[in-house]
Amino acid sequence: MAQANWAGNVRFGAQRVETPSSVDEVRAVLASAGRVRALGSGHSFNLIADTDDTLLSTARLTAAPRIDPGARTVTVGAGMRYGELAPALEAEGWALANLASLPHISIAGAIATGTHGSGDTVGTLSSAVAALELVTPTGDVVTLRRGDRDFDGAVVSLGALGIVTEVTLDIEPTFAIRQRVYERLPLEVALAEFDVLMASAYSVSLFHRWDDPDVIDQVWTKARGDEAPRLPGDIAEATEQVHMLAGVTPEATTPQLGERGAWLDRLAHFKLSHTPSNGAELQSELLVPRTHAVGAIEAVRALADEVAPLVQVMEIRSMRADDLWLSPASGHDAIGLHFTWHQRQAEVETVVAKLEKALEPWGARPHWGKLTRLDADMLRSVWPRLGDFAELARRFDPEGKLRNPFLDRVLAAAG
Ligand SMILES: Cc1cc2nc3c(=O)[nH]c(=O)nc-3n(C[C@H](O)[C@H](O)[C@H](O)COP(=O)(O)OP(=O)(O)OC[C@H]3O[C@@H](n4cnc5c(N)ncnc54)[C@H](O)[C@@H]3O)c2cc1C
Repeated sequence: MAQANWAGNVRFGAQRVETPSSVDEVRAVLASAGRVRALGSGHSFNLIADTDDTLLSTARLTAAPRIDPGARTVTVGAGMRYGELAPALEAEGWALANLASLPHISIAGAIATGTHGSGDTVGTLSSAVAALELVTPTGDVVTLRRGDRDFDGAVVSLGALGIVTEVTLDIEPTFAIRQRVYERLPLEVALAEFDVLMASAYSVSLFHRWDDPDVIDQVWTKARGDEAPRLPGDIAEATEQVHMLAGVTPEATTPQLGERGAWLDRLAHFKLSHTPSNGAELQSELLVPRTHAVGAIEAVRALADEVAPLVQVMEIRSMRADDLWLSPASGHDAIGLHFTWHQRQAEVETVVAKLEKALEPWGARPHWGKLTRLDADMLRSVWPRLGDFAELARRFDPEGKLRNPFLDRVLAAAG
């Protein structure tokens, strides 16, 4: 059993790892341990999942998908990975609205941290949650449905409320995607035409490597229609399959070149069968209100000299607003400014801190699963429902069984 996260930059302090496969077994783990943290697929880059006591791996909480065609939902074990759920949906003619860049992550782990893909009209993966079943630290099994009093606080939960055992997700009829990549868009054009650019396909990602600060290296578009997107500026479509990282062969990336194919083979950037991204990396991400996108990108540009030596690539994505208290898109449409860094943690942490400060005036929210300072003032100012969340966490977990230092800092920021 892995005692480190996927990136290898975090070693968990757990004394034991349990792998329950049923609600009763989850209850037994909770009853027998002093402190517990759930561990999904371990793809977070910080200490959010850490504990000094018991790690509860969700690897066997993988109940087979149950599709409800009338409600247009699927209910599935919380530890299942998107890449395992997707073929089961496709086989029955159904689809998810979106995926993150990788299908390797567990469903409950992704939604607990507000994980997202890109798309002006598409919400975060958390916003696709219609219901949750969780076992609270006191052993109660609670089901929360969209519209229930506690639901909006319980989806992006940071693992603070209980062990999620099943998740119900919205689904829609299967659809096809054509993925095309365009190369070398002047940054000035991207900023001047930002809304046109991000709306040019169902899902759009801008990749910027910062070796030429004035050029966006790649624009990835995932279109639901057959027509090629109309992009601003004079930009050429790549004529062969590419990777967004310099010098990495493109085998791991999902098919491009405009070839039509099912949603599950195109919405993520990376194939389940391959290592996503680089493998040797760290990540951080700041998410700003859509209306502040250009100002925030300019603020990053002002730090180009410090970002460029450490960054492998920056990715800019969009997402639709939702009502989930700790979602990156809570209350407004959002733009994610993501950084894949070289594994030089101390230097990266320094530049992450500078980016967080520089983007504070733009209302930047840190991604819960990536490197962040967890600065109390910043957290308090950008999450208006943080106090309500702290109260909810105390009500579900009065003895603090699910607490760890990461969570302590988040809840302390609520005041
Ligand atoms: C290569 C790579 C690419 C990535 N791409 C994206 C991307 O495109 N978009 C994006 O937004 N993020 C991205 N991420 C970040 C990633 O989506 C998040 O870190 C996500 O939380 C990972 O899910 P996980 O199952 O690995 O969660 P873990 O890291 O295992 O856990 C995260 C949190 O969820 C809690 N948790 C997990 N399971 C449960 C459960 N059953 N009940 C209660 N709490 C639970 C844990 O306690 C922990 O607090 C990427 C990460 C990597 C490594």
